[in-house]
Amino acid sequence: MKIKTISKAKRTLMVAILVGMAIGFVTSRWMDRGVQDAHAKKVPMAEEQPVQISPTKALKDRDTYFPGTEDLAPDEMRITALGTGMPSARPKQAAACFLVELGNGDKFLFDIGSGSHERIAAQKIPYDYLNKVFIGHLHVDHYGDLPTFWLGGTVMNRLVPLRIWGPSGSTPEYGTKHSLEMMEKMYIWDIGTRSGVIDFRGGKLEINEFDFKGINEVIYNENGVVIRSIPAVHGLDGAVSFILEWNGLKFVYGSDTIPNKWYMEHAKGADFAIHECFLPPTLLVTKQGFSPLEALTVGTQGHTAPEQFGKVMSTVKPRIAVGYHFYNDFDIQPEVTRRVRKTYDGPLSLAVDYMVWNVTKDNYRVRMTAKDEEVWPSPALKKKNAPDFTKSIPISDFTKSGAVGLPEVVGPIYDEINKKYGTNYKPGFK
Ligand SMILES: [Zn+2]
Ligand SMILES: [Zn+2]
Repeated sequence: MKIKTISKAKRTLMVAILVGMAIGFVTSRWMDRGVQDAHAKKVPMAEEQPVQISPTKALKDRDTYFPGTEDLAPDEMRITALGTGMPSARPKQAAACFLVELGNGDKFLFDIGSGSHERIAAQKIPYDYLNKVFIGHLHVDHYGDLPTFWLGGTVMNRLVPLRIWGPSGSTPEYGTKHSLEMMEKMYIWDIGTRSGVIDFRGGKLEINEFDFKGINEVIYNENGVVIRSIPAVHGLDGAVSFILEWNGLKFVYGSDTIPNKWYMEHAKGADFAIHECFLPPTLLVTKQGFSPLEALTVGTQGHTAPEQFGKVMSTVKPRIAVGYHFYNDFDIQPEVTRRVRKTYDGPLSLAVDYMVWNVTKDNYRVRMTAKDEEVWPSPALKKKNAPDFTKSIPISDFTKSGAVGLPEVVGPIYDEINKKYGTNYKPGFK
Protein backbone atom coordinates (compact mmCIF):
# COMPACT_ATOMS: atom_id res chain seq x y z
CA MET A 1 0.00 0.00 0.00
CA LYS A 2 1.22 3.49 -0.83
CA ILE A 3 0.44 4.94 2.57
CA LYS A 4 2.72 2.47 4.19
CA THR A 5 5.50 3.86 2.03
CA ILE A 6 5.27 7.38 3.59
CA SER A 7 8.44 8.02 5.50
CA LYS A 8 8.50 8.44 9.25
CA ALA A 9 9.71 12.06 8.83
CA LYS A 10 6.74 12.99 6.62
CA ARG A 11 4.30 11.43 9.13
CA THR A 12 5.79 13.49 11.90
CA LEU A 13 5.42 16.63 9.81
CA MET A 14 1.72 15.94 9.06
CA VAL A 15 0.93 15.35 12.74
CA ALA A 16 2.66 18.59 13.65
CA ILE A 17 0.60 20.52 11.03
CA LEU A 18 -2.68 19.01 12.33
CA VAL A 19 -1.82 19.78 15.96
CA GLY A 20 -0.89 23.33 14.95
CA MET A 21 -4.23 23.83 13.18
CA ALA A 22 -6.10 22.59 16.22
CA ILE A 23 -4.21 24.89 18.57
CA GLY A 24 -4.82 27.82 16.24
CA PHE A 25 -8.58 27.13 16.12
CA VAL A 26 -8.96 26.90 19.87
CA THR A 27 -6.83 30.00 20.42
CA SER A 28 -8.91 32.04 17.97
CA ARG A 29 -12.11 31.01 19.82
CA TRP A 30 -10.61 32.18 23.11
CA MET A 31 -9.56 35.41 21.47
CA ASP A 32 -13.06 35.96 20.02
CA ARG A 33 -14.58 35.46 23.42
CA GLY A 34 -12.15 37.92 24.89
CA VAL A 35 -13.21 40.49 22.31
CA GLN A 36 -16.88 39.87 23.17
CA ASP A 37 -16.25 40.28 26.90
CA ALA A 38 -14.37 43.51 26.28
CA HIS A 39 -17.29 44.76 24.17
CA ALA A 40 -19.89 43.73 26.82
CA LYS A 41 -18.14 45.79 29.46
CA LYS A 42 -18.77 48.93 27.42
CA VAL A 43 -22.63 48.53 27.95
CA PRO A 44 -23.78 49.94 31.36
CA MET A 45 -25.18 47.22 33.62
CA ALA A 46 -28.70 47.61 35.11
CA GLU A 47 -27.39 48.27 38.61
CA GLU A 48 -25.30 51.08 37.31
CA GLN A 49 -28.33 53.05 36.07
CA PRO A 50 -29.96 55.76 38.26
CA VAL A 51 -32.27 54.25 40.94
CA GLN A 52 -36.02 54.68 40.17
CA ILE A 53 -38.02 55.91 43.23
CA SER A 54 -41.22 53.90 43.86
CA PRO A 55 -44.39 56.05 43.74
CA THR A 56 -45.80 57.14 47.11
CA LYS A 57 -49.35 57.83 45.90
CA ALA A 58 -52.26 55.39 46.37
CA LEU A 59 -53.28 53.40 43.33
CA LYS A 60 -56.06 55.07 41.35
CA ASP A 61 -57.89 51.80 40.78
CA ARG A 62 -57.99 48.53 42.66
CA ASP A 63 -59.27 45.08 41.85
CA THR A 64 -61.02 44.71 45.21
CA TYR A 65 -63.73 46.93 46.67
CA PHE A 66 -62.93 48.33 50.10
CA PRO A 67 -66.20 49.45 51.76
CA GLY A 68 -66.39 53.12 52.60
CA THR A 69 -63.54 54.16 50.32
CA GLU A 70 -65.24 54.86 47.00
CA ASP A 71 -67.59 57.66 45.99
CA LEU A 72 -70.78 56.54 44.28
CA ALA A 73 -71.43 58.61 41.13
CA PRO A 74 -74.84 60.37 40.94
CA ASP A 75 -75.99 57.98 38.19
CA GLU A 76 -74.48 54.83 39.71
CA MET A 77 -75.97 51.83 41.51
CA ARG A 78 -73.85 49.55 43.72
CA ILE A 79 -75.18 46.11 44.60
CA THR A 80 -73.43 44.00 47.23
CA ALA A 81 -74.18 40.32 47.88
CA LEU A 82 -74.33 39.85 51.66
CA GLY A 83 -75.95 36.41 51.66
CA THR A 84 -76.04 34.01 48.73
CA GLY A 85 -76.03 30.49 50.18
CA MET A 86 -78.43 27.80 51.28
CA PRO A 87 -81.02 28.04 54.08
CA SER A 88 -78.37 27.23 56.68
CA ALA A 89 -75.60 29.81 56.92
CA ARG A 90 -71.96 28.71 56.78
CA PRO A 91 -68.74 30.69 57.20
CA LYS A 92 -68.40 31.31 53.46
CA GLN A 93 -72.02 32.13 52.72
CA ALA A 94 -74.86 33.58 54.77
CA ALA A 95 -78.48 33.16 53.67
CA ALA A 96 -80.22 35.57 51.30
CA CYS A 97 -79.36 39.28 51.55
CA PHE A 98 -78.53 41.93 48.95
CA LEU A 99 -77.70 45.58 49.57
CA VAL A 100 -78.55 48.17 46.91
CA GLU A 101 -76.95 51.61 47.18
CA LEU A 102 -77.96 54.42 44.85
CA GLY A 103 -76.14 57.54 43.69
CA ASN A 104 -78.82 59.69 45.42
CA GLY A 105 -77.68 58.27 48.80
CA ASP A 106 -80.58 55.86 49.29
CA LYS A 107 -79.83 52.34 50.49
CA PHE A 108 -82.06 49.27 50.54
CA LEU A 109 -81.71 45.77 51.94
CA PHE A 110 -83.48 42.99 50.07
CA ASP A 111 -83.99 40.03 52.42
CA ILE A 112 -81.98 39.70 55.60
CA GLY A 113 -81.33 35.98 55.93
CA SER A 114 -79.53 34.07 58.67
CA GLY A 115 -75.93 35.16 59.08
CA SER A 116 -76.23 38.27 56.92
CA HIS A 117 -76.06 40.86 59.72
CA GLU A 118 -72.30 40.55 60.16
CA ARG A 119 -71.84 41.10 56.41
CA ILE A 120 -74.08 44.16 56.58
CA ALA A 121 -71.98 45.47 59.50
CA ALA A 122 -68.83 44.96 57.43
CA GLN A 123 -70.05 47.56 54.92
CA LYS A 124 -69.34 50.23 57.55
CA ILE A 125 -72.52 52.14 56.71
CA PRO A 126 -74.19 54.14 59.54
CA TYR A 127 -77.23 52.15 60.66
CA ASP A 128 -79.53 55.15 60.27
CA TYR A 129 -79.01 54.83 56.52
CA LEU A 130 -79.79 51.09 56.59
CA ASN A 131 -83.37 51.57 57.72
CA LYS A 132 -85.25 50.12 54.72
CA VAL A 133 -85.64 46.34 54.50
CA PHE A 134 -87.72 44.49 51.89
CA ILE A 135 -88.58 40.88 52.72
CA GLY A 136 -89.57 38.59 49.85
CA HIS A 137 -91.19 35.89 52.04
CA LEU A 138 -91.11 34.67 55.60
CA HIS A 139 -88.64 31.78 55.34
CA VAL A 140 -86.00 32.03 58.04
CA ASP A 141 -83.24 32.11 55.43
CA HIS A 142 -84.79 35.38 54.15
CA TYR A 143 -85.40 37.23 57.41
CA GLY A 144 -83.68 35.17 60.11
CA ASP A 145 -81.22 37.97 60.94
CA LEU A 146 -83.92 40.63 61.25
CA PRO A 147 -84.08 40.36 65.09
CA THR A 148 -80.32 40.82 65.54
CA PHE A 149 -80.22 43.63 62.97
CA TRP A 150 -83.23 45.31 64.58
CA LEU A 151 -82.27 44.99 68.27
CA GLY A 152 -78.50 44.75 67.81
CA GLY A 153 -78.78 47.86 65.63
CA THR A 154 -79.92 49.90 68.64
CA VAL A 155 -76.40 49.59 70.10
CA MET A 156 -74.86 50.13 66.66
CA ASN A 157 -76.16 53.72 66.81
CA ARG A 158 -79.40 53.40 64.85
CA LEU A 159 -81.64 56.19 66.16
CA VAL A 160 -84.37 56.08 63.50
CA PRO A 161 -87.19 53.52 63.23
CA LEU A 162 -86.46 50.41 61.19
CA ARG A 163 -88.80 50.36 58.20
CA ILE A 164 -89.81 46.97 56.85
CA TRP A 165 -91.86 46.01 53.82
CA GLY A 166 -93.20 42.48 53.40
CA PRO A 167 -96.10 40.61 51.82
CA SER A 168 -99.47 39.60 53.20
CA GLY A 169 -100.35 35.91 53.39
CA SER A 170 -103.43 33.79 52.70
CA THR A 171 -104.75 34.89 56.13
CA PRO A 172 -103.51 37.64 58.50
CA GLU A 173 -101.58 35.04 60.57
CA TYR A 174 -99.43 34.23 57.54
CA GLY A 175 -98.61 37.86 56.79
CA THR A 176 -95.55 40.00 57.56
CA LYS A 177 -97.41 42.27 60.00
CA HIS A 178 -98.47 39.39 62.24
CA SER A 179 -95.00 37.84 62.09
CA LEU A 180 -93.24 41.05 63.11
CA GLU A 181 -95.74 41.79 65.87
CA MET A 182 -95.01 38.31 67.20
CA MET A 183 -91.30 39.07 66.90
CA GLU A 184 -91.76 42.13 69.11
CA LYS A 185 -93.54 39.93 71.64
CA MET A 186 -90.88 37.23 71.38
CA TYR A 187 -88.13 39.72 72.24
CA ILE A 188 -89.97 41.48 75.05
CA TRP A 189 -87.24 40.52 77.53
CA ASP A 190 -84.49 41.86 75.27
CA ILE A 191 -86.42 45.10 74.70
CA GLY A 192 -86.99 45.33 78.47
CA THR A 193 -83.23 45.40 79.12
CA ARG A 194 -82.69 48.28 76.70
CA SER A 195 -85.67 50.55 77.36
CA GLY A 196 -84.71 53.43 79.61
CA VAL A 197 -81.07 52.33 79.59
CA ILE A 198 -79.94 53.39 76.10
CA ASP A 199 -81.46 55.75 73.54
CA PHE A 200 -83.88 53.19 72.12
CA ARG A 201 -85.44 55.22 69.30
CA GLY A 202 -83.91 52.78 66.79
CA GLY A 203 -85.95 49.96 68.34
CA LYS A 204 -89.16 51.26 66.79
CA LEU A 205 -90.49 49.20 63.90
CA GLU A 206 -92.44 50.61 60.98
CA ILE A 207 -94.23 47.66 59.39
CA ASN A 208 -95.53 48.00 55.85
CA GLU A 209 -97.48 44.93 54.74
CA PHE A 210 -98.68 44.91 51.14
CA ASP A 211 -100.89 42.56 49.14
CA PHE A 212 -98.87 39.59 47.91
CA LYS A 213 -101.20 39.37 44.90
CA GLY A 214 -100.26 42.83 43.63
CA ILE A 215 -98.86 42.56 40.13
CA ASN A 216 -96.26 45.21 39.48
CA GLU A 217 -97.96 47.46 42.02
CA VAL A 218 -96.03 50.28 43.63
CA ILE A 219 -95.24 49.57 47.28
CA TYR A 220 -92.61 52.31 47.75
CA ASN A 221 -92.22 55.67 46.04
CA GLU A 222 -89.84 58.17 47.64
CA ASN A 223 -86.97 60.35 46.55
CA GLY A 224 -87.18 59.27 42.89
CA VAL A 225 -87.07 55.56 43.77
CA VAL A 226 -90.02 53.34 42.87
CA ILE A 227 -90.28 49.76 44.13
CA ARG A 228 -92.94 47.39 42.86
CA SER A 229 -93.82 43.85 43.88
CA ILE A 230 -94.88 40.87 41.80
CA PRO A 231 -96.12 37.55 43.16
CA ALA A 232 -93.67 34.63 43.39
CA VAL A 233 -94.41 30.90 43.35
CA HIS A 234 -92.66 29.45 46.38
CA GLY A 235 -93.84 27.61 49.46
CA LEU A 236 -97.23 29.11 50.34
CA ASP A 237 -99.29 32.11 49.31
CA GLY A 238 -97.37 35.20 50.33
CA ALA A 239 -94.03 35.10 48.48
CA VAL A 240 -93.04 38.00 46.24
CA SER A 241 -90.26 39.43 44.09
CA PHE A 242 -89.25 43.10 43.91
CA ILE A 243 -88.51 45.53 41.09
CA LEU A 244 -86.64 48.74 41.94
CA GLU A 245 -86.45 51.55 39.38
CA TRP A 246 -84.39 54.70 39.74
CA ASN A 247 -82.74 57.09 37.36
CA GLY A 248 -83.38 54.87 34.32
CA LEU A 249 -81.91 51.78 36.00
CA LYS A 250 -83.99 48.70 36.73
CA PHE A 251 -83.02 46.23 39.46
CA VAL A 252 -84.98 43.01 40.03
CA TYR A 253 -84.72 40.78 43.08
CA GLY A 254 -86.50 37.43 42.85
CA SER A 255 -86.04 36.30 46.47
CA ASP A 256 -87.25 32.68 46.11
CA THR A 257 -89.46 31.47 43.30
CA ILE A 258 -89.71 28.80 40.68
CA PRO A 259 -89.94 30.20 37.13
CA ASN A 260 -93.15 32.21 36.96
CA LYS A 261 -95.01 34.31 34.40
CA TRP A 262 -94.87 37.52 36.47
CA TYR A 263 -91.09 37.51 36.76
CA MET A 264 -90.66 36.52 33.13
CA GLU A 265 -92.86 39.42 32.03
CA HIS A 266 -92.05 42.23 34.46
CA ALA A 267 -88.32 41.63 34.90
CA LYS A 268 -87.83 42.13 31.16
CA GLY A 269 -85.39 44.84 30.24
CA ALA A 270 -83.78 44.81 33.69
CA ASP A 271 -80.29 46.19 33.99
CA PHE A 272 -79.65 43.82 36.88
CA ALA A 273 -81.79 40.75 37.54
CA ILE A 274 -81.28 38.41 40.50
CA HIS A 275 -83.12 35.09 40.52
CA GLU A 276 -82.52 32.03 42.62
CA CYS A 277 -80.44 29.28 40.98
CA PHE A 278 -80.59 26.28 43.31
CA LEU A 279 -78.26 23.28 43.41
CA PRO A 280 -79.05 20.75 40.66
CA PRO A 281 -80.94 17.75 42.08
CA THR A 282 -77.97 15.44 41.37
CA LEU A 283 -75.86 17.48 43.80
CA LEU A 284 -78.69 17.78 46.31
CA VAL A 285 -78.47 13.98 46.53
CA THR A 286 -74.66 13.59 46.57
CA LYS A 287 -73.63 16.71 48.51
CA GLN A 288 -76.68 17.62 50.58
CA GLY A 289 -77.85 14.12 51.46
CA PHE A 290 -81.36 14.45 50.01
CA SER A 291 -83.30 11.42 48.78
CA PRO A 292 -83.84 11.46 44.98
CA LEU A 293 -87.52 12.41 45.41
CA GLU A 294 -86.71 15.17 47.91
CA ALA A 295 -84.03 16.47 45.55
CA LEU A 296 -86.38 16.62 42.57
CA THR A 297 -89.26 18.15 44.53
CA VAL A 298 -87.20 20.74 46.40
CA GLY A 299 -84.79 21.34 43.51
CA THR A 300 -87.29 21.95 40.71
CA GLN A 301 -90.79 22.39 42.18
CA GLY A 302 -90.00 24.49 45.26
CA HIS A 303 -86.80 26.05 43.93
CA THR A 304 -85.25 26.74 40.54
CA ALA A 305 -82.70 24.34 39.03
CA PRO A 306 -79.84 25.90 37.01
CA GLU A 307 -81.44 24.92 33.67
CA GLN A 308 -84.71 26.58 34.77
CA PHE A 309 -82.80 29.69 35.87
CA GLY A 310 -81.16 29.84 32.44
CA LYS A 311 -84.54 29.65 30.72
CA VAL A 312 -85.88 32.52 32.84
CA MET A 313 -82.87 34.69 31.98
CA SER A 314 -83.14 33.85 28.26
CA THR A 315 -86.66 35.25 28.41
CA VAL A 316 -85.88 38.31 30.55
CA LYS A 317 -82.58 39.13 28.81
CA PRO A 318 -81.17 41.41 31.53
CA ARG A 319 -77.91 43.31 31.07
CA ILE A 320 -76.54 41.27 33.99
CA ALA A 321 -78.10 38.01 35.20
CA VAL A 322 -77.29 36.95 38.75
CA GLY A 323 -77.91 33.48 40.16
CA TYR A 324 -77.69 32.76 43.88
CA HIS A 325 -78.99 30.43 46.59
CA PHE A 326 -76.50 27.55 46.35
CA TYR A 327 -73.24 26.62 48.04
CA ASN A 328 -70.95 28.14 45.45
CA ASP A 329 -67.66 26.21 45.62
CA PHE A 330 -64.85 25.56 43.16
CA ASP A 331 -66.11 22.05 42.49
CA ILE A 332 -69.79 23.04 42.29
CA GLN A 333 -69.71 26.13 40.12
CA PRO A 334 -68.52 24.42 36.90
CA GLU A 335 -71.46 22.00 37.06
CA VAL A 336 -73.97 24.77 37.82
CA THR A 337 -72.52 26.89 34.99
CA ARG A 338 -72.64 23.95 32.55
CA ARG A 339 -76.33 23.47 33.30
CA VAL A 340 -77.18 27.20 33.13
CA ARG A 341 -75.40 27.40 29.78
CA LYS A 342 -77.73 24.76 28.32
CA THR A 343 -80.48 27.40 28.34
CA TYR A 344 -78.77 30.82 28.63
CA ASP A 345 -75.72 32.35 26.97
CA GLY A 346 -75.84 35.98 28.21
CA PRO A 347 -73.86 37.90 30.85
CA LEU A 348 -73.85 35.94 34.10
CA SER A 349 -72.65 36.19 37.69
CA LEU A 350 -73.09 33.26 40.06
CA ALA A 351 -73.08 35.22 43.26
CA VAL A 352 -71.04 34.49 46.34
CA ASP A 353 -71.00 36.60 49.53
CA TYR A 354 -69.11 39.89 49.23
CA MET A 355 -69.40 40.03 45.45
CA VAL A 356 -70.10 43.62 44.40
CA TRP A 357 -71.35 45.16 41.15
CA ASN A 358 -71.16 48.80 40.09
CA VAL A 359 -73.79 49.55 37.47
CA THR A 360 -74.44 52.62 35.34
CA LYS A 361 -76.44 52.93 32.15
CA ASP A 362 -73.36 52.34 30.00
CA ASN A 363 -71.14 50.15 32.11
CA TYR A 364 -70.89 47.60 34.81
CA ARG A 365 -68.10 46.13 36.85
CA VAL A 366 -68.00 43.13 39.18
CA ARG A 367 -65.44 42.66 41.95
CA MET A 368 -65.09 41.11 45.38
CA THR A 369 -65.29 43.15 48.59
CA ALA A 370 -62.45 43.19 51.10
CA LYS A 371 -63.60 41.94 54.49
CA ASP A 372 -62.80 44.08 57.51
CA GLU A 373 -63.26 41.53 60.25
CA GLU A 374 -62.50 44.07 62.95
CA VAL A 375 -65.15 46.57 61.90
CA TRP A 376 -66.71 48.93 64.47
CA PRO A 377 -69.99 50.80 64.19
CA SER A 378 -70.07 54.29 62.72
CA PRO A 379 -70.94 57.04 65.22
CA ALA A 380 -74.59 58.09 65.59
CA LEU A 381 -75.74 60.63 63.04
CA LYS A 382 -77.60 62.71 65.61
CA LYS A 383 -77.24 63.53 69.29
CA LYS A 384 -78.32 60.72 71.58
CA ASN A 385 -80.92 61.30 74.25
CA ALA A 386 -79.81 60.64 77.81
CA PRO A 387 -81.23 57.39 79.22
CA ASP A 388 -84.46 57.79 81.15
CA PHE A 389 -84.17 55.32 84.02
CA THR A 390 -87.78 55.97 85.05
CA LYS A 391 -88.75 54.03 81.92
CA SER A 392 -86.60 51.01 82.72
CA ILE A 393 -88.28 47.79 83.88
CA PRO A 394 -87.72 47.39 87.65
CA ILE A 395 -86.00 44.26 88.90
CA SER A 396 -87.01 42.46 92.07
CA ASP A 397 -85.46 42.91 95.51
CA PHE A 398 -84.44 39.26 95.20
CA THR A 399 -82.20 39.89 92.20
CA LYS A 400 -80.98 43.19 93.64
CA SER A 401 -79.95 41.36 96.83
CA GLY A 402 -77.51 39.26 94.80
CA ALA A 403 -75.60 42.18 93.29
CA VAL A 404 -72.09 42.85 94.60
CA GLY A 405 -71.56 46.56 93.93
CA LEU A 406 -67.76 46.61 94.42
CA PRO A 407 -67.70 50.40 95.05
CA GLU A 408 -63.91 50.42 95.48
CA VAL A 409 -63.63 49.09 91.92
CA VAL A 410 -66.62 50.67 90.19
CA GLY A 411 -66.26 54.06 91.91
CA PRO A 412 -62.94 54.89 90.20
CA ILE A 413 -64.42 53.80 86.84
CA TYR A 414 -67.25 56.32 87.34
CA ASP A 415 -64.76 58.96 88.53
CA GLU A 416 -62.70 58.47 85.38
CA ILE A 417 -65.67 59.09 83.08
CA ASN A 418 -67.09 61.94 85.22
CA LYS A 419 -63.73 63.70 85.15
CA LYS A 420 -63.30 63.28 81.42
CA TYR A 421 -66.80 64.36 80.42
CA GLY A 422 -67.67 66.79 83.23
CA THR A 423 -70.52 64.64 84.52
CA ASN A 424 -71.60 63.47 87.96
CA TYR A 425 -72.97 59.96 87.47
CA LYS A 426 -73.31 57.45 90.32
CA PRO A 427 -73.52 53.66 90.03
CA GLY A 428 -76.92 52.01 90.54
CA PHE A 429 -75.65 49.09 92.63
CA LYS A 430 -74.09 50.12 95.94
ZN1 LIG B 1 -87.81 30.35 50.68
ZN1 LIG C 1 -84.51 30.76 50.29
